[in-house]
Amino acid sequence: RTSAGDLDPQDLAVAQTLADVATVYVLNAEDRIARTEFVSSVSHELRTPMTSIGGYTELLSDETAGALSPRQRQFVEAIERNTRRAAALASDLLVVATLESRAPRPHVSLDLVAVAHEAHDALEASIAERDVSVEFDIAAEPLLVEGRAEDLERVVVNLVGNALKFTPDGGHVRCSVSRTAESEGQGLGSFARIEVSDDGVGIPEDEQPQLFTRFFRSSTAETHQIQGTGLGLHIVATIVREHHGRIGVRSQHQQGSTFTVDLPTAD
Ligand code: ADP
Repeated sequence: RTSAGDLDPQDLAVAQTLADVATVYVLNAEDRIARTEFVSSVSHELRTPMTSIGGYTELLSDETAGALSPRQRQFVEAIERNTRRAAALASDLLVVATLESRAPRPHVSLDLVAVAHEAHDALEASIAERDVSVEFDIAAEPLLVEGRAEDLERVVVNLVGNALKFTPDGGHVRCSVSRTAESEGQGLGSFARIEVSDDGVGIPEDEQPQLFTRFFRSSTAETHQIQGTGLGLHIVATIVREHHGRIGVRSQHQQGSTFTVDLPTAD
């Protein structure tokens, strides 16, 4: 470990413990109100000190408290990076715990096309930051599915967000939302397909089976020093399962990746 900011093992240990506590708690709890309180207090407990660390680090970085030496600046930047990482972890853990603990609510019929447009809007800032061409090809006709809009928007945002993250400058990302006649292995019927492809770093074949496991990060993420929590795809897979859909991935190391989500249509 060469840099002061490289705290991976500790981050992972803390995150794993919190997730285990959340899972055990959720599995044992009878009382739904207590679960919700637990989830929101974990999130609160984590976010409050992080906001404070972020605030003080910003003051240091602005040199409000005095000029920084190059070495001190390097340390402050490491703190900033890791604070962002911890904040992302707290936020993703909250999503995981919520998905695992909430009461089954009846899904409502919604238009996946409208959801995809919302996701596109939500991604605009991240797209603008990168020198990667991003194409959205969203069906013109409505595509009705049963589900929760905020969850399905998260699916698109996480998949396109990953495609952007794992594609170097000059690369291409494409997100299509369309109706397909048949989904492999599910027999006949109409499906709404979300497909996100990129020509980025790809995923080595032997690592692909673990992609949807909580906290899994592939070796390419390490090699290219791309930050993340390892929770995004687990969240996506959990949501897809809740929606009676299926998710697949095709990827070649150094060539790119394609994630495909098929959801049963409601019309
Ligand atoms: P995170 O992106 O926060 O690390 P995810 O759960 O979203 O976590 O993804 C898990 C791992 O899968 C990533 O660390 C990365 O190694 C790999 N991965 C996901 N999407 C892509 C992609 N589009 N291209 C290459 N690797 C990917």
